[in-house]
Amino acid sequence: MREDDLRESQNIDDRRGQGGGGGFSVGRGGLGIGTIIILGLISWALGINPAVLINGAQMVAGGNSGYVSQPPPGRTGTPNDRTGIFVAKILGETEDVWSQILPAQAGRAYENPKLVLFSGATASACGTAQTATGPFYCPNDRRVYLDTAFFQDMKRRFGGGGDFAYAYVIAHEVGHHVQNLLGILSKVQALQRGGRDRATANAVSVRTELMADCFAGVWANKMNQRHANIDDTDVQQAVAAATAIGDDRLQRQSSGVVVPDSFTHGSSAQRVRWLTTGLKTGSMKSCDTFAAETP
Ligand SMILES: [Zn+2]
Repeated sequence: MREDDLRESQNIDDRRGQGGGGGFSVGRGGLGIGTIIILGLISWALGINPAVLINGAQMVAGGNSGYVSQPPPGRTGTPNDRTGIFVAKILGETEDVWSQILPAQAGRAYENPKLVLFSGATASACGTAQTATGPFYCPNDRRVYLDTAFFQDMKRRFGGGGDFAYAYVIAHEVGHHVQNLLGILSKVQALQRGGRDRATANAVSVRTELMADCFAGVWANKMNQRHANIDDTDVQQAVAAATAIGDDRLQRQSSGVVVPDSFTHGSSAQRVRWLTTGLKTGSMKSCDTFAAETP
């Protein structure tokens, strides 16, 4: 794969080197006992139900909604190191391609996601991102989270890797962002929260993941049209990656933690099939994994 022609995205939030996700505080909502006593005294004096005052005060204080902890800002823009530049180029190409094909194929404008590069751990609006989590997309803050150690991990554990395989991983996460823009992720989450059994929830998850694989293929098709920069070997490497890697986990919005589940990403054969479908057709229509009887 050649990357020289690809434009570097500015939408990188580089938090590498910040270490273990420290440096930010998680606050506790709720009111101090002193406030409650004072509100009690006021309500006694005014003859108002104290619950009304306490609720009002909690709304002002942010209540118990457990506000999202804010990580320190990373370096924004384009990184200078080799891996950082590579990621910025792939992200830039996803921006250029999707801003063309999403309006053309789905009648919707594309909005660029941010990509957070981190090492160790960092905060996300879907819970703590950790190296062990693998790359993931968080719909709550519209960010892709990526620890580039994952690429080394792919190389070491699966004896492969290769630039296009790494690009496919990023494109898959961007595929989830496209699903988010199309309202697919919120429907999926509603389905999974709807008290269905675990098997149904898994089946829904598998179709969602396979669609992201297919979208990654569609992106690669268009990139190759624009730059003629991938060949059969690259595609074989990406297919090998699709076969081998464990996928990210859809973040559970309700719990805000990652729930590892090895049965929610589709079989190797399914992943290869949907990646190559997108790659061959370049058409989002071909990626309707929910329409297929067996995806
Ligand atoms: Zn995924």
